[in-house]
Amino acid sequence: MKFDFLSESDQAYFIHKASTLVEALPYIRQHSGKNIVIKYGGHAMGDTNLSKSFSKDIGLLKEVGINPIIVHGGGPQIGEMLKKKNINSNFLEGLRVTDKETVKIVEDVLSKDINSKIVNDINLTGGKAIGISGNKNELIKAEKLNLKVKDSDSNIEKILDLGFVGTPVEIKISSIKEIISNGLIPVIAPLGIDKFGNTYNINADTVAGVIAGAMKADKLLLLTDVAGILDENKKLISSLSVTEAKEISKKEFIIGGMKPKIKTCINAIDQGVKKATILDGRISHSIILELFTEHGIGTQIYT
Ligand code: ADP
Ligand code: MG
Repeated sequence: MKFDFLSESDQAYFIHKASTLVEALPYIRQHSGKNIVIKYGGHAMGDTNLSKSFSKDIGLLKEVGINPIIVHGGGPQIGEMLKKKNINSNFLEGLRVTDKETVKIVEDVLSKDINSKIVNDINLTGGKAIGISGNKNELIKAEKLNLKVKDSDSNIEKILDLGFVGTPVEIKISSIKEIISNGLIPVIAPLGIDKFGNTYNINADTVAGVIAGAMKADKLLLLTDVAGILDENKKLISSLSVTEAKEISKKEFIIGGMKPKIKTCINAIDQGVKKATILDGRISHSIILELFTEHGIGTQIYT
């Protein structure tokens, strides 16, 4: 049959579009009603087209009955603000050393600038998001992180002092569940508070992983600025069992921000999350490609 009002190439285009939607159906059924935690990285956020496509993707997930829970980072934006204020900061094991002055700036950038921008972007594309900060209403109870590292020569373990960098100890999941049951999308800033009222900067991957575990999420998606985990030849590793991931995490080609990312995936799977994926946030609609097509992208880590 031929439609008189469409050229043949237009017809083929629309038929392809229709079949793409139909092919998504089994994936929609599979994920519907499930919690999916998405870590949205600082790099993808800086690009207007990418942030628009991210917002639409999140709206789409919600419309088909999936519960997206967003945890955002803010590394590049925090870096810019510190530079503007002439404050130096350095990283140890992929984590930002955070003194008292820095943690205030981290808090402002994360919970004011970035969090509201993501919420607004989602709401502008027709979604309904609400921003929450981990250090408010005891959402994320934290304590100071004592990062243990082994000296490679002597094999002696030492503890690194990162200042106001925290580790989550308890998540108030009732608050997240309430937001979801009200039909809203939670957008969470990765901050924590200790029993003395100190605010801590927490790596956003770590927060996403702990929330995924606590919320019994089906999936954890960590969007970043690389294709996934790259091997020593810079080739993408497309999938790893959790045992293989534990082995790889010790290799010398895993450095910087990739260290907490892999650790997060391992911990999340140990906590019952079915699959964790590190994927390229620079590709538009990467979330949709990952969830709704057979062409999974990035590095999948599974049980
Ligand atoms: P994000 O904002 O997404 O958390 P990070 O800078 O914290 O970004 O972590 C991602 C970075 O990890 C990559 O840009 C890359 O430079 C670094 N990295 C280190 N080792 C690897 C590796 N083996 N494969 C991929 N990326 C790696
Ligand atoms: Mg990071």
